[in-house]
Amino acid sequence: MTEQHPGITRQGSAGAPFDIELPTLSRGTADRDEDLRVPERMTAAWPDARVLRVGPTGAIAAVDGRPDWQPATGPGLPHRGVLLGVVDGVDHWAIPDVDVEGPTLRELGLLLDDTDAGLLVSAVAVLGWHARGAFCPTCGQPSVPAPDGWSRTCGQGHQEFPRTDPAAIVLVHDGADKMVLASQPNWPKGRFSVLAGFTEAGESLEQTVVREIGEEIGIPVTDVHYLASQPWPFPRSLMIGFAARAEPGIELHPRAGEISEAHWVSRETVRRILAGDGNGAGWAGPGTGGAEIVLSGSISIARRMIEGWAAAG
Ligand SMILES: [Zn+2]
Repeated sequence: MTEQHPGITRQGSAGAPFDIELPTLSRGTADRDEDLRVPERMTAAWPDARVLRVGPTGAIAAVDGRPDWQPATGPGLPHRGVLLGVVDGVDHWAIPDVDVEGPTLRELGLLLDDTDAGLLVSAVAVLGWHARGAFCPTCGQPSVPAPDGWSRTCGQGHQEFPRTDPAAIVLVHDGADKMVLASQPNWPKGRFSVLAGFTEAGESLEQTVVREIGEEIGIPVTDVHYLASQPWPFPRSLMIGFAARAEPGIELHPRAGEISEAHWVSRETVRRILAGDGNGAGWAGPGTGGAEIVLSGSISIARRMIEGWAAAG
C-alpha cells in the first residue's frame, strides 16, 4: 500500500472506518511540475524524450501488454503532443495517431507499473480532451493546443484547460458488518457495486454523497468519510470515494430506472464473493436469476472500496 507508493503519503480521512488500497490508476510517480512545461526546456530535452502513440478512441500502442515507448523523432516538439511528465530526467510525451490499434487503458491498467499507470491516465485524459475540444467554449472559434498540450487558445485569446468532472462513489455501511450492494438496470445480470453520482454545479462532495444515496436508495446517511480518489478518464471523471453510514437494517428503496435492486450484504458474503464464490454465496440476490454475482473490475476504485471494507472488522 502506501509504502510502495512514496508519492502518496496519506489516503483516507482520519476517522474513516476502513482504509483502501491505492487505486490502480492513482499510482503515478512522474514529475508534472508546470515549470517543466517551458517551451525552451522541452525543446532542449526533446532529442532524449520518449514518445507513446495513442489512437483516437484511446487505443494505446503496446507490445506484450506494456506501453510501447519509442525514442523521439523529428527536429522539434511534436504537433498536438502532450508532455505527460518527466521520469528520471527523461521527458515522456503522448502523441495522437489515428493508425494506432491496441489495448485501452481499461484493459492495460492492471498490468502497468506505477509510473506508466500515471503517464497513461494523463495521456488518455488529455488527448481525449483535445479530440473533443477543437472549438473555444467561450466564443466558438477554432482553438489550437499549447506546445505542452495542457491548454488550448483561440484566436481571441481565450484559454481553456482540460476539464475533470468530480463524481462521488459511496460505500454505504451500517457501522457493523453489513454494506449495500446495488445493481443498475443496464448492467448484466448479477453485477453489483457501490453507488455513485456526479457532483452538481454548486454542490459540495459531502452534499453529493447525501443527495445521491437519498435519490438512489431512499435512505439518509451520516458519518461521511473520504477514502481515496482515482482519475477515470472515460471520458473525464475523477472518482472520489467515500464511506457513509446508515441505520442498521433500514429498508432500502431503489429508485426505479436508476437502480434495479439494492441489498444489505454481510461482510462474510462479500468476502465469499471476492474469493470467487459468488454463486451460492448465501445471498440469492433476487434479480440475479441464479447468475454468479460479479463485482466491479479490479481497476475500479469501487472494487478497492469493497475489498477494503471486507478486510476490515
Ligand atoms: Zn474564444
